[in-house]
Amino acid sequence: MIDLRKHCIELLESRGVSLEAIADCAVYLQHAYFPDLKREDMIESVMDVLGKREVQYTIMTGIAIDKAADKGDIEDPVLLKMLREDDGLYGVDEVLAYSICNVYGSIALTNFGYIDKDKYGIVGQLNKKNPDGSYPGNHNTFLDDIVGAIAASAAARYAHAQEK
Ligand code: MG
Repeated sequence: MIDLRKHCIELLESRGVSLEAIADCAVYLQHAYFPDLKREDMIESVMDVLGKREVQYTIMTGIAIDKAADKGDIEDPVLLKMLREDDGLYGVDEVLAYSICNVYGSIALTNFGYIDKDKYGIVGQLNKKNPDGSYPGNHNTFLDDIVGAIAASAAARYAHAQEK
């Protein structure tokens, strides 16, 4: 049996995303409520989110589409252009990321909306483009939303776990 969590952590790392960078985003989302929160406190929540099958399938699917965009391996040239430029009206990347937030409820969804706009940390780094609108390296159209959704869900899980 394949360890899908390990597989997904390796996939994320292959695209430049570490567990620590995701935990930092989750800490940022909870900072107003828990000012002393540290990255180490959030790693457990990130690992819990990455242990969910819905999350694992979303990570694998999103990264596969981003890799196909890297290679030009999308038959429809109109779609390929939209994927490579992360067209603002495309929106399918956000909808796929909702499937992660849906596991953790409404706080995860509102957290996701916030970090998707705010572009904190690794979420912002994944979004950096060249002046001509192209990406410097990998295309991260799906990955930025997936990472934001994992952080948003980890933050929501942490918030619920603190409730006495
Ligand atoms: Mg995106």
